[in-house]
Amino acid sequence: MSDFSWRDELQKCVKCGACMAVCPIYRQTGREEMVARGKLNLIERIETGGTEELPAGWVEAIDHCLLCCSCEENCSKNVRITEIIAHARREMTAKQGLHPVKKGGFALLTSRFLPLGRVLKAGSFLQWLWARRLPRQSGLVRRLPLPGIDSRTVLPQLPRRNLDDRLQKRKRTAGLTEILYFPGCATRYLFPEMGLDLIFVLEKLGFAGIVPAELACCGLVTWGAGDEATRKELADRNLEVFRRHRKLRTIVTGCASCGHALKEYEGVPEDLEILDISEFLYRHREKLGNLVGDRRRPEKITYHDPCHLRKGQQVTREPRWLLALIAGENFIEMRHPERCCGAGGTFGISHKELSRRILAEKSADIDATGAEIVTSGCPGCLLQLTEGAVIGNSPWQARHPVSLLAELLRRKAAPDPVCG
Ligand code: SF4
Ligand code: SF4
Repeated sequence: MSDFSWRDELQKCVKCGACMAVCPIYRQTGREEMVARGKLNLIERIETGGTEELPAGWVEAIDHCLLCCSCEENCSKNVRITEIIAHARREMTAKQGLHPVKKGGFALLTSRFLPLGRVLKAGSFLQWLWARRLPRQSGLVRRLPLPGIDSRTVLPQLPRRNLDDRLQKRKRTAGLTEILYFPGCATRYLFPEMGLDLIFVLEKLGFAGIVPAELACCGLVTWGAGDEATRKELADRNLEVFRRHRKLRTIVTGCASCGHALKEYEGVPEDLEILDISEFLYRHREKLGNLVGDRRRPEKITYHDPCHLRKGQQVTREPRWLLALIAGENFIEMRHPERCCGAGGTFGISHKELSRRILAEKSADIDATGAEIVTSGCPGCLLQLTEGAVIGNSPWQARHPVSLLAELLRRKAAPDPVCG
C-alpha cells in the first residue's frame, strides 16, 4: 500500500463506531483508543502533526491489536483498517526498532546458515529437559521456570523429523496431478503430521502436493510486527519459487494465516490460484463425497473460524461443508464462532494476560456446545485453543479439519504409504 492510498483510507472513516461492537481488545479494555476508530484517530493526529517522538499512549494503542480484521468485517465504509495499523507499526519499528526477541526470531526466517528448521530440530533433542508432555492434549508445558512462559502455556512438541524430512522418505504415487502445497512454518516444523494428513487427502483425490524445499515463511508475522524489509524478502523468495515451478498452477495451504498472506502478495502470476485447503476440497466435493460415502465421525465436533480465513479471505462456507461431510449431525456451531481466539500471531506471547481473557470467552463458547473436538484451519489457533482446554480443564481437543478427514478416509482406505 503506498503512502497516498493509506492516507485516503484514513479519510474514509466516518467515526460511526460500528467497529466497537466486534473488537476483542475493546471488549476487554473498554478503552476508545484500543478500538479501530480510536486507533485511526491517533494515527491521523500523528501523521498530520508530524511529531518525531511517538507518544507512549500512541505506541500502546498501536501495539494492542490482534490484526484480526474483525473491525474490517464490520466496517460500513470498508476501511482497510489492518493495513493502516500495519503502516503505523512500520513507522513505529522504523523509529524504535524491533524487540530483540522478535529481531532474533525473524533473523532465523531468512538465515541461510542457521535456518529456523535447523534450530527447532536441535531444540527437539533438548525439550524433555525443560518441558513435559500434557496428559490429555497434544503439546508440552514447561518443567522448569522459563522467562515469559508460565506453567499453563502450551508449547508445541518439537518433532525430531520435520515435514521436509518426512517427505524425503515418502514414496510418491505415480500418475497424480501435481499442485504446490504451501505448509507454512508451523505445519512444516511443529506439526508435520498435519501436513502428511493434507497430502494424503490430496492423493485420495488424485493430486500430488509438492512442497519445494526452498519455500520460505509466508511473512505474515513480520508484516504484523512492522518489519517490512523481512516481509518483502520472504515474499520475494516465495514468488521466485512459484515462478520456478511454473507448471504448478494451483497452490493450496492448510494454514489460514499463510493463505491470507499469500493472497495479499504483490506480483503473484495471474494464472496462479491460491486456495485454502477447504476451498480446494469444496471444488472436488463430488469426488470427496463419494470417497467418504456414509462414514461419519462419531464425536461431537464444533468449529472456530480463524480470523485470517473468515475475515481475511472471506472463507466460511467451505469448512462448514467439510465438517458436515465429516460429522453429519454431530457438527454443531458454537456461539460466536467468528470471535478471535486471542492468539494473533505473537500477540498471545507479548500480551499474555489480555490474550488469555479473550481465550476464556472462546473456551466458554466451546464448553457450551458439549463438543469433544473443536476444529480450526489454522495451526496458531489450534495451539491457542489447546491452551484454553488446559487452562479450563475442558475435555475437548483442538484438531485441524483435514486431519479428521484423513482419519476418516484411512478407516476405509488402504494404509497411507507414509514411510516416515
Ligand atoms: S466502523 Fe469503520 S468507519 Fe466506522 S468508526 Fe470504525 S473504522 Fe471508522
Ligand atoms: S484488528 Fe481486531 S484487535 Fe485490531 S482494532 Fe480491529 S478488531 Fe480490534
